[in-house]
Amino acid sequence: MTTTETEIVEMPQLAAQWAKIRGRLQAEVGEVEYRTWLRQMTLAGLDGDEITVTLPTRFLRDWVSTRYSDRLRALWQAENPTVRRVDVRVGTAASPSPPPVETLSAPRERLREPVPPASIEPPRPGRTEAAPSPAGWPDDRSEPRSDLAAPLDPRFTFEGFVVGKPNEFAYACARRVAERPSSPGFNPLFLYGGVGLGKTHLMHAIAWELTDRTSSPVSVAYMSAEKFMYRFIAAIRSQSTMEFKENLRSVDVLMIDDLQFLIGKDNTQEEFFHTFNYLVEAGKQIVVSADKSPSDLNGLEHRLRTRLGCGMVADLHSTTYELRISILEAKAARAGVDVPVKVLEFLAHKITSNVRELEGALNRLVAHANLFGRPVTLEATHEVLHDILKAHDRRVTIEEIQKKVAEHYSIRLTDMSSARRARAVARPRQVAMFLAKQLTSRSLPEIGRKFGNRDHTTVMHAVSRVTELMERDGTFAEDVELLRRLLES
Ligand code: ADP
Ligand code: MG
Repeated sequence: MTTTETEIVEMPQLAAQWAKIRGRLQAEVGEVEYRTWLRQMTLAGLDGDEITVTLPTRFLRDWVSTRYSDRLRALWQAENPTVRRVDVRVGTAASPSPPPVETLSAPRERLREPVPPASIEPPRPGRTEAAPSPAGWPDDRSEPRSDLAAPLDPRFTFEGFVVGKPNEFAYACARRVAERPSSPGFNPLFLYGGVGLGKTHLMHAIAWELTDRTSSPVSVAYMSAEKFMYRFIAAIRSQSTMEFKENLRSVDVLMIDDLQFLIGKDNTQEEFFHTFNYLVEAGKQIVVSADKSPSDLNGLEHRLRTRLGCGMVADLHSTTYELRISILEAKAARAGVDVPVKVLEFLAHKITSNVRELEGALNRLVAHANLFGRPVTLEATHEVLHDILKAHDRRVTIEEIQKKVAEHYSIRLTDMSSARRARAVARPRQVAMFLAKQLTSRSLPEIGRKFGNRDHTTVMHAVSRVTELMERDGTFAEDVELLRRLLES
C-alpha cells in the first residue's frame, strides 16, 4: 500500500476498527484457535472498498482465507460500511501499517526524542499495550475506567497467576497493593525482572482487582511507557499538555509498564517525574515495571531512580523447574486438555527461558491436539515443537557438565570419575549425572561410563535422588537450575 494523505487520515479509525474486529474474532473462536491461526494477521490497508489483511506464510494465509474470510468480511462490514471485500494475502508483518495514532504527522524535528518506528502490528488482543484506542475491547470487564487506560488482558488476573518461589514476593506485593493501594511502604511498587516472567500479568491483575471491586472503586490508568511517551508527544503537538497532565493527575492509581523504554527520552522522563511526584504527594498509588532494578536503570535520571526505589521494590526471578511444572499444569487444566506428566516434565526441562515461551509451546501443542483430535503424546510433542526445541537444544557435552559442576561445588574434576563416596563429592557427581541425562541425548550406560565406568543403575539412582532433593529443597533446586542455565547458555 502506498501511503497517501487520505489513507493516513483514515488509518487511526481503521486501526481502531481492526482492533475491535480482532477482539470479536478472538471472543468467537476462543483463545487457542485465535492464537494459532489469527493472531499474526496484519492490517495492510483499505483500497476503495477492499480491505487487505496479510499473514506471514502461505499456509496461514490459506487457512485463514478458507475458514475465516466470510466472517472477516461480515465483521468488517458491520464496523465500516465502505468495506465490501476482504483480501487475505501473504505479506510480512513489516508491510506498511498504521503508525501509532498519536504520532501521525508529528513534526519530528521539533522533538528532542527519537520517534521509534511505528508499531508494525495492529494491537493484539491478548497483548494489548499498543492498542490505539481503549474502545472496542470485546470483554465487558475491560471497559476502560480512565480515558488514559490501555485495555487489560482478561487472562491476566491474580487467579490466573501461578505462584512459586521465584515470584512469590512480587505476587504478595502486588496483592497487597491491590487490597490497600497507597499504603506507606508500598508506594511506588516497582516490579522488575526479565522478559516473560509476569510483570505485565501482575500489573493487569492489580488493575482488575481495583476496578472490579464494588465498594469505593478507584480509577486506574495502566499504560506502557511507550504509550505514555506517544501520548505526551501528541499532547505537545496538539498543544494540549495541560489536559494531558490533568488527565494523568486525576487517576487514583497510575501504572507504567516497561519503564526502561524512557531511557534516553529526557523530556518524557521529566514529565513522568513530575506526574509521579504529584501523584505520590496526593496520596495516589504508582506501580511501575522495568527489566532492571531502579539502581541498575542506567540512563534514567538519578532523582527518578531514587524516587522509584523509595517504596517497595520486588523482583521476579527466573523460573525454577517446579514453577514451570506448576504453570504448565495450571494452563493445561485451563485449556481442558489432558497433557501427560511426561510431556509437562519434558517441556519444563527444555523450555527454561521464560513463561511466555513455555506458554507458547503448550498452546501450540494444545491447538494441535484440538485440531487433529489426537491426544498429546511425547512423540507428538517432539514433532509439533520441532523448531522451538531445536532452538533450545544447544549441544552440551558430558565433559562440559562435569567441569562446570566440579567448579561450582569446588571439587576436583577427577572426583567426577573417582570412587570416593563422601557426600561432598558424591552429591555433585549425582548432580552432574542428572544434568547429563537432562541435557544430552546420551543413554544411561554411556553416562555411567563417563563417570568412572559406573553402572547404569547408579546413574538412574542419581537422577531420581536429585529429582527428589530438588522437590524437597528449594535452595538445592535453584542451584541445579542455575547450573543448567549456565550450561545451556
Ligand atoms: P513480562 O511483562 O514480565 O515480560 P508477562 O506478564 O507478559 O511478562 O508474561 C508473559 C506470559 O507468561 C503471559 O501470558 C503471562 O500470563 C504468563 N505468565 C508469566 N508468569 C506467570 C505465572 N506465574 N503464572 C501464570 N502465567 C504466567
Ligand atoms: Mg510486559
